[in-house]
Amino acid sequence: MTVTRNFPEDGRYFQRMAPTPLVPVQLELGQPQIWCKLEFLNPSGSTKDRIARYMLEKAWRQGQIRSGSWVTEASSGSTSLALALACAQLDLRFLAVMPEGVSNERLLGIRAYGGEVLSLPKAEGMAGAIGRASAEAQQRGGICTRQFENPDNPEAHRLWTAQEILAQLPGSHIDAVVSGVGTGGTLVGLYEGFTHSGCQTTPVLARPINHGLINELECCSFSSRIPGVMDGMSHIFSHERLPGLLEIAVDDELALNTTRLLIHHGFPVGPSSGLNFAAARLAAAQLPRDACIVTVFPDRMERYFSTELFQQFR
Ligand code: PMP
Repeated sequence: MTVTRNFPEDGRYFQRMAPTPLVPVQLELGQPQIWCKLEFLNPSGSTKDRIARYMLEKAWRQGQIRSGSWVTEASSGSTSLALALACAQLDLRFLAVMPEGVSNERLLGIRAYGGEVLSLPKAEGMAGAIGRASAEAQQRGGICTRQFENPDNPEAHRLWTAQEILAQLPGSHIDAVVSGVGTGGTLVGLYEGFTHSGCQTTPVLARPINHGLINELECCSFSSRIPGVMDGMSHIFSHERLPGLLEIAVDDELALNTTRLLIHHGFPVGPSSGLNFAAARLAAAQLPRDACIVTVFPDRMERYFSTELFQQFR
């Protein structure tokens, strides 16, 4: 990737990131082949590099930010790391607001890129963090990127990731796209990108089911064991935008075991990749035998060394 700070005069900044590989993965004989987009190979280690760069470029072009401006976001995860890196490269200042308790690896990563971290008491939750991130942006005279509602999040995947995949796939026909949902940007953006390009694609939601939780929590399908997906805050994900949505429930134990299998086979990925791959394999059973199925490996295993994923190796 070329590092540059002067993208407004220089053409589209986001196009300077190298395309990630799209590879056919069939881990065991007799299992379906799934086309997997290796998004964990992006510069900050996740697919969120795309929305970070895209949202910032849009805001810059619209005159909302310039060199030295503040950017804030309520995220404890990949989006903050991606924004911190993109802000460092664009001479912007970055503040991540998050509930306390986030792993040290993430905090240090954000700070290493020059970002600031504001930890709120756990009781305030993500809702509190979202409110505070907006307030801080206002006070500091900057923008809050609001990934859970920003239309530039799905647009990044529609105009960029989806087109990259279409250019990489022999035949350019995609029968199904499978993804877990956090903000919904990936699933909605890829689905719209493929169908607007003429594909007849079924959108498939990978829904992690946490059997360790009590019923009220299970009904919103939140699984604390698969970070980043199905936290129910998205304003982007909707059934209207995903007609014919197929939902595949994945036991989170299966998602974690699939993640370990992927790591073993040379894909150093995090739990949401295992979830996506497991759901894609289950979806294949409901689709024609030669269906072309695409999914995403969103982020890297190193982010989860201190979690249950690696418990058995400690
Ligand atoms: N995987 C990981 C690791 C994530 O952090 C997220 C969302 N925060 C997702 C997948 C889901 O992607 P999206 O936000 O585009 O729905």
